[in-house]
Amino acid sequence: MTSLTGRTAIVTGGSRGIGAAIVKELASYGANVVINYLERADRAAIIQSGLVSSHSSIELIQADVSKRDEVAGLVEQSMKRFKKIDILVNNAGITCDRTLKKMTFEEWNRVIQTNLTGVFNCTSLVVPQMIENKSGAIINVSSIIGLTGAIGQSNYAAAKAGVIGFTKSCSLELARHGITVNAICPGYVATDMLKAVPQDIAEGIRQRIPLGRFAQAEEIAKCVRFLITEGGYITGQSIHVNGGLFLA
Ligand code: NDP
Repeated sequence: MTSLTGRTAIVTGGSRGIGAAIVKELASYGANVVINYLERADRAAIIQSGLVSSHSSIELIQADVSKRDEVAGLVEQSMKRFKKIDILVNNAGITCDRTLKKMTFEEWNRVIQTNLTGVFNCTSLVVPQMIENKSGAIINVSSIIGLTGAIGQSNYAAAKAGVIGFTKSCSLELARHGITVNAICPGYVATDMLKAVPQDIAEGIRQRIPLGRFAQAEEIAKCVRFLITEGGYITGQSIHVNGGLFLA
């Protein structure tokens, strides 16, 4: 097993769901991890306390990824604590579902600012020191919806499609600096985000998944970790982890 001992990761939205699973997976490989969160300090603290016996150092840092000054603070505090950042997982994301007819500008903007501008903020502020170190791995959590679209999710689909384009451009710009940039496109994952979907609609989705079930957050986390520990020659890619749904 390729160890991540001595390497440091920032995981945005690491307090719950997929982000929390990524934190645990990277820590289990020995990485030091900065758990970024927005509001749920309690949930972030639970993840941290569950990792006290690991050999990793886990730091909690509150910051809204949509706010550039707060992300600058997140990066500055992380650098102060760990001296360098080797891995960035842009995972923080929200939904605010509404058909286009009813969607307000505020609902559009909130999702774009968090899910797309947040990825730009974190990446652009972390990358300069990765360039200095001539190495780094960046994983952006997109979504199947960025490829398929979905009724009531024009804001979310636009943001997640944007993340895929951003990933490809960054991979081209940063390859010569030894930095890989990839996107993961989960299908439907059993987290708080999925709980927001009405039960009858969620059941309809489940029935369309060829593997017949929602993903566990840990299954997405393992794919993220694989890209980091084994994916040195993989860059600019979108990896689909969706139980075969995209093919259905
Ligand atoms: P959850 O709703 O379970 O968790 C969201 C996380 O993002 C929380 O840690 C939350 O922090 C954090 N967050 C939200 N807004 C901000 C912000 N502005 N700044 C910093 N952190 C923020 O989501 P999931 O785990 O389900 O989703 C994680 C990612 O995976 C998202 O990008 C999502 O779009 C994507 N995804 C999810 C799928 C699913 O089916 N669940 C499918 C495909 C993609 P706090 O706890 O403090 O509120």
